[in-house]
Amino acid sequence: MKKEMEKAIVIFSGGQDSTTCLIQAIQQYGIQNVAAVSFNYGQRHKIELEKAAWIAKDLGVEQIVLDTTLMNMITHNALMDDHEQIEKKADQNYPNTFVDGRNALFILLSAIYAKSHGIRHIITGVCETDFSGYPDCRDIFIKSMNVTLNLAMDYSFQLHTPLMYLTKAQTWALADKLDCLDYIKENTHTCYEGVEGGCGHCPSCRLRNKGYEEYLAGRGAQIR
Ligand code: ZN
Repeated sequence: MKKEMEKAIVIFSGGQDSTTCLIQAIQQYGIQNVAAVSFNYGQRHKIELEKAAWIAKDLGVEQIVLDTTLMNMITHNALMDDHEQIEKKADQNYPNTFVDGRNALFILLSAIYAKSHGIRHIITGVCETDFSGYPDCRDIFIKSMNVTLNLAMDYSFQLHTPLMYLTKAQTWALADKLDCLDYIKENTHTCYEGVEGGCGHCPSCRLRNKGYEEYLAGRGAQIR
């Protein structure tokens, strides 16, 4: 199913989801046709940038790192401020780790880069299932952004969200299908607290671990 001549760019944080997307893209488009773009926005889990660089190098894929630390000048949230407790207040739809405009900005910058390199396909691991209710992870936002980009740059971008309707367990299943389950488990970073190997307690760690256990339980049931 290799798409000859087509090129893709993957928005890549070094976490479980985007690494799964990156490996899938490499298999679909061919490694010479895939680039990864990562963002430094002053995230408290800075270790993810190091992991992302390591994984990109290990897979042999070109990585572009863009500095978006200017976000610190205009917004405040628990993902970027390590003095802030990560929490979800009862009167809010999503936890205080939500960063206003982050995905819109990342997709826009990726699209500008993509167009200047003759790339149409932009892949992001956002997912509206099993997640925290972030508005910019919803399919309707991605579709709207796709239309906006095409109009803004008079170019036929295609945004791809292969994980949009997968649960975390199904994302682990996809990794297994792509033959990279152990690779993702060992090498990716998801923890909001920035703890190497995961703190095990933050919402991101809990979701990741729960999905992994669900997938293994399901797989065990199939094997039996
Ligand atoms: Zn954690």
